[in-house]
Amino acid sequence: MDSETLLHRLFHQESITNLAIDPAEFCCSCSQVKMLNSLSLLGEDEIKEILEEDGEVAMTCEFCLEHFSFSEIDINKHHGQEGHRTQH
Ligand SMILES: [Zn+2]
Repeated sequence: MDSETLLHRLFHQESITNLAIDPAEFCCSCSQVKMLNSLSLLGEDEIKEILEEDGEVAMTCEFCLEHFSFSEIDINKHHGQEGHRTQH
């Protein structure tokens, strides 16, 4: 588990460097915002449950396996922005 995490971190850093050099080499359209949008499909109760258990909601992009994790603050902030946009 630990070595896997380390490997992922090393790989992750390397992929960021590669992206900086050649952005066309890898393309996945995932982003924090998109992940947060799909997260809201879960429903508030389920999100709350996960937050209470883990303290954060971890997600993995099914295409590029990029890891994202969101705290309650991240999720609330995103919801706030969405709500503002809808009301406007
Ligand atoms: Zn992705």
